Amino acid sequence: MKFLRYGPPGEERPGVVDQDGRMRDLSDMMSDLSGANLARLGRVNPENLPRVEGAPRLGPPVGGVGKVLCIGLNYSDHAAESGMAAPDEPILFLKATSALSGPNDPIPIPKGAGKVDWEVELGVVIGRAAKYVSVEQALSHVAGYCVFNDVSERAFQLERGGQWTKGKSCDGFGPVGPWLVTPDEVGDPQRLAMDLTVNGEVMQTGATTTMIFSVAQIISYLSRMMTLHPGDIIATGTPPGVGMGKSPQRYLKPGDIVEASVEGLGRQKQVVEADR
Ligand code: ZN
Repeated sequence: MKFLRYGPPGEERPGVVDQDGRMRDLSDMMSDLSGANLARLGRVNPENLPRVEGAPRLGPPVGGVGKVLCIGLNYSDHAAESGMAAPDEPILFLKATSALSGPNDPIPIPKGAGKVDWEVELGVVIGRAAKYVSVEQALSHVAGYCVFNDVSERAFQLERGGQWTKGKSCDGFGPVGPWLVTPDEVGDPQRLAMDLTVNGEVMQTGATTTMIFSVAQIISYLSRMMTLHPGDIIATGTPPGVGMGKSPQRYLKPGDIVEASVEGLGRQKQVVEADR
C-alpha cells in the first residue's frame, strides 16, 4: 500500500492511496503516519475511508521523524565519480530533520551557495525499533520505502571544514515521497531502478543492485551503534550522475526543474528557487 501525508507544511494529515489510485483520508484511524502507527499500516483498508478531493500539496509521507541517517558513497560507481575509494564500512552522516520537505516542494538555493547538487536515493523508513538486529531480521523493522532526494551544497559540504552535515541540512534539502510504500508492495529492495532528470535531461540512472552495503546490512550495522526508532529515515546512498561528478561540474540554479524516481515508489518534482 501507498501512504502519504497531505496539506500545508506542518499541518499535514495522513492519507492512503486506494485501489483506483485516489487519495483517502486516514485521520479517523490515526493522528499521523508516525511513531507506533507505522507498525500497524497493514491493518488499513482504504476502501472504507473518506476520499480526499482535489490535488492538495503532499508533505513528507512520514511525520515525527527523529533522525535522518544518510549513507555516503554506497554505490561503487558513484564513489568512483567522486574520486573517493569505496568504503570498507558504511559512511554515515546526519541530515537535520528541518531539511525535510514535501516531494514537490521547491528546492531553495541558500544565500551564498553556488554548488547545489542532486542525489536520488532509496529512502527507508523504520517501523519498529531496531537495536542489535541481525542482517537476517533487519528488513522486518522497515515500515516502508520512499524516494529521497539528498540535496547537497558541495561547497558547504566539502570546502568549509568539518562534517558533511553542513552541506546536507539546508532548508528544503530533503524532499521525501510522494509515498511511503509498504514492503509487501516493494518486494526485494535490492532490485529497484532509479533515475533523476534536470530540465528533462537524464542526469542519474542506476539501480539498488549496485549498492555496496544492502538495506539489510545498513540497518543491522546502524542498529549496533544506536537504536533506530519508528519514523527514522535512512537515505541509502546515490548512484552515479551527480552534478559534482560531471565534467564540467554542473549545479542547480533558480528555475531548474528536478525530477526523481525510484521504481515502484513514484516520482517527485521540484522547482529550484533562490532562498528568501
Ligand atoms: Zn546521499
